[in-house]
Amino acid sequence: MARVRMPIGVFTSAGGDLTAAINKVLEVGVNSVQFHAPGPDQRSRARAREIADQFSEAGIDISLVFCGFAGERYDTIPIVRETVGLVPAATRAERLQNTKSIADFASWLDAPGIGIHVGFVSEDWDSPEFAEVVNVIGEVADYCAERGLTVNLETGQETAGTLLHVLDTAKKPNLGVNFDPANMILYGSGEPLEALRKVGKYVKSCHCKDATWSSKPGVEWGVEVPLGQGDVNIEKFVTILNELGYTGPLTIEREISGERQTTDIKAGIKVLRDIRVRLGIR
Ligand code: MG
Repeated sequence: MARVRMPIGVFTSAGGDLTAAINKVLEVGVNSVQFHAPGPDQRSRARAREIADQFSEAGIDISLVFCGFAGERYDTIPIVRETVGLVPAATRAERLQNTKSIADFASWLDAPGIGIHVGFVSEDWDSPEFAEVVNVIGEVADYCAERGLTVNLETGQETAGTLLHVLDTAKKPNLGVNFDPANMILYGSGEPLEALRKVGKYVKSCHCKDATWSSKPGVEWGVEVPLGQGDVNIEKFVTILNELGYTGPLTIEREISGERQTTDIKAGIKVLRDIRVRLGIR
């Protein structure tokens, strides 16, 4: 069976009630997901098999497993800088081990890769901090390569120029980008479409998410809004992905919860379906 190019997907969770999560995916009518890795106590080989089987029986593909770590906080941009990803030195060794455990879990699920927020990589490319972060990313990439996994770095916390320099310096074929255009706006780290063109050859997956700019970009958060209602220009975003030869899923991420999330995701799916038709993607 020929695979659909750029299938529409959603970001879900496999850590809580899996049947409910799967039913929600089926309710919105897609068959591709990314999800956060469950906590360490749920990352056994047996649990991975159960999760993989449940998604497979529902006809849903797992396209990426996302890393997250205890102690990460997203309250403000300065707090993200201090607490998120592999950048903070105090937690780096422990989180590296955790990332490897998530990679094992992803491989048992037969997922193609892991996604990760590395954190605020130093914009000073000659600094020891930059070199240390590139090293740790390289170690993750090597560990994942041995398991047949890609490592997709989420965009947003650093500029596209710095992200590109990380990738060019690390030089790992399985290392790429999970491009989230809204994050570029939320964090004030650059115009997202220009950034997409810049790192385009490395894009292995994406988040379809929208946002509006803050009046103080980089200092205060922008606002995440339903897909198509923000400053991303989602049609242009998909157009550029298409021009880049990207064929992977268009994974909708809507970072709210409850009924409103489902409503917004359904509306987002409609937005993407219409764009796919206009661009002749099938
Ligand atoms: Mg994202």
